[in-house]
Amino acid sequence: MAGSKMKLELSRVVQGKGRLGVLKGLGRTGQHSLKIPGCLLYTHFGSVPHLTQDTLHTMRDLPSVTQVTLSTIAEHQEVLEEFKDGFRKFAGLHDTVLYCSLHDPATSCPTGHTTNKTVSVWGSGGRIELTAAKFMALQRTIQPDWYQSMADGETWLSDTSRKRVRKSVDRTLAHLDECLLVHKNSQEFEGAEILGVVEGGDILEERLRSARETAKRPVGGFCLDGFQAGSMDQALRTQLINAVTKELPEDKPRLLQGVGQPDEVLACVGAGVDLFEAFFPFQVTERGCALCFSFDISPDPERAGSAPSTVLELEQERDAPVEAQQNGDNMVDGQTQMTSFEMNLKDKRYQDDFRPLVEGCGCYCCRNHKRAYLHHLLVTNELLAGVLLMIHNTAHYQGFFSALREALATDKLDLLQRRVLSKGDRPGGKSE
Ligand SMILES: [Zn+2]
Repeated sequence: MAGSKMKLELSRVVQGKGRLGVLKGLGRTGQHSLKIPGCLLYTHFGSVPHLTQDTLHTMRDLPSVTQVTLSTIAEHQEVLEEFKDGFRKFAGLHDTVLYCSLHDPATSCPTGHTTNKTVSVWGSGGRIELTAAKFMALQRTIQPDWYQSMADGETWLSDTSRKRVRKSVDRTLAHLDECLLVHKNSQEFEGAEILGVVEGGDILEERLRSARETAKRPVGGFCLDGFQAGSMDQALRTQLINAVTKELPEDKPRLLQGVGQPDEVLACVGAGVDLFEAFFPFQVTERGCALCFSFDISPDPERAGSAPSTVLELEQERDAPVEAQQNGDNMVDGQTQMTSFEMNLKDKRYQDDFRPLVEGCGCYCCRNHKRAYLHHLLVTNELLAGVLLMIHNTAHYQGFFSALREALATDKLDLLQRRVLSKGDRPGGKSE
């Protein structure tokens, strides 16, 4: 790809556990890098929900790649064309690598609107039908550093027929070829990367065909589509992703779309995935919850001296409160359900709980506020609740990815897995 400087340097590949490395040379000038396994910065129209750029940049270790979605930008094409300087400047973004995906991972979109030549995205004003030509014209006005190729991804429902899945793979390859042709012949895309999309629903042969054919094309990396929550069970998903990643070249990144829960992330990293969309902390924030699962894999310096670390783990697990079951009740808020990785701060039990959200968390919210205060903000519908929760949830999620990389580097994945899955084993969990 002309002018591209992106290079994936793998420092460790553990079969069945994951790939550790750094994506270097990102952005048009090649000055950015991103550690893998990692995630992208999730945004709505360029801004992290609830946070201003100022607030956002008080946070450390943010991902260097910002995700925007075509569905929210498509209806502003004329304005962007008039503006001329691309979406990054339009949205007042700081120095970041801009990645444009087709759909928003936190929003499900209606099916039944693709044709051989078009796909549809949904903006606030309704459906927008895109041909490859219109899709590329949009990318030209957005000026992303990476973008997902146009794809027919309407095969994630489990009852999709084999014929429909085959058609989706064929169409997606045809769309990719059309996009690549324009990409190659336009100066505006110099230095930008196009990510090819692997489709194939839950049919192994179609997944393999999609992966092999996409890998033959000059793409910068791969989007694995159609594995989003609710599309299939975790065992089948892991099995299919394993098969797909084996067909992909080692030296290009694999981005998994629509998967973000910590246990699922661990399983998918084990199956060879490098990158995730970080919409999960946003969903948790929207239901008034705070991430509180443990990912601490470092030995506790204060207690390590008095007990061997294995005993320590057992003790912590035995002491663990079962908070998730107590306040979970499968609460439904919008489209997403509360998971066992979070606490529901609207719950009355927090009205006089004067601890931080997570003991030991270094985020602004945990350093300055108590659970009781967050509870008050939530029950009185104060906007600050969303701000503080988004700060904590983003920091907590980034901390998890950081621990994941450390675990890969130091052979502690099993320990991390136990920590993440032991639902009550969390710092500061209320023991009653
Ligand atoms: Zn925090």
